[in-house]
Amino acid sequence: MNPIIPNIGYLIIIIGTFVVRYPYQKRNKANKIERNEKDSIEKFTLALVFLGMMIIPLVFILTDILNFANYNLPFPWRAIGLLIIFPTLWLFYRSHKDLGLNWSVSLEIREKHTIIDQGVYKYIRHPMYSSIWLWTIAQILLLNNYIAGLSGIISFGILYFLRVNREEKMMIETFGRSYQNYISRTKRIIPFLY
Ligand code: SAH
Repeated sequence: MNPIIPNIGYLIIIIGTFVVRYPYQKRNKANKIERNEKDSIEKFTLALVFLGMMIIPLVFILTDILNFANYNLPFPWRAIGLLIIFPTLWLFYRSHKDLGLNWSVSLEIREKHTIIDQGVYKYIRHPMYSSIWLWTIAQILLLNNYIAGLSGIISFGILYFLRVNREEKMMIETFGRSYQNYISRTKRIIPFLY
C-alpha cells in the first residue's frame, strides 16, 4: 500500500477528533470548575500525549527525518489500521455526546456535574479512553515507524495508568455510593472484560 493512504488515514483521526471535541471545549467553558486536580503530573502527561499522538506523527508524515526507524507491515495490517479509524471516531463522538457538559480534558469536577451512566457509559466507565486506546493501535498499524508508530501507545499508556485510579477516586469522593454502584456494574475499557 502506498504510504500516502495510511498517512491520510492518520490525519483523518487527528482532524476528526478535533472536530468532535471543539464544540464541547467551547461550550463547557460556561460550566464552572468546582474541583480541580489538574496538577503537574496531569500537565506533564497531557503534554506527553500531545507530543506522542500529534507532533511526532506529523513530523513523520511531513518530513523524512524519522525514516531511519521505519518498519514495513504487510498490507492486511495497514488495512486493519484504516478500518479501526471508524470505531475510534464513533466512540470518541459518542462519549463526548453522552458526557456533554461534564467533559474535561483533565481531572475536574464541574459546578453542575452529574454522573453519566447511560449511552456508551452504560457498558464501560471510560469509553473516551477506549477510543484513544483504539487510536494508539491504529497509529501502530498506520505509521510504520518505531518512533512515530509507538509514541502514541507509550505516551497515552503513561497518562492512562497515572490517571484512571485518581479519576475514579475523585468521582467516589464527589458522588459517593452512586459512583461505587456504577463501578460494581461496569468494566473500565472493554465491556465484560477489563
Ligand atoms: N474517563 C471518561 C471521561 C474522560 S473526560 C472516559 O474515558 O470516557 C474526564 C472527566 O470526565 C473527568 O475529569 C471527570 O470529571 C469526568 N467523568 C468521568 N467519568 C464520568 C461519568 N461517568 N460521569 C460524569 N463525569 C465523568
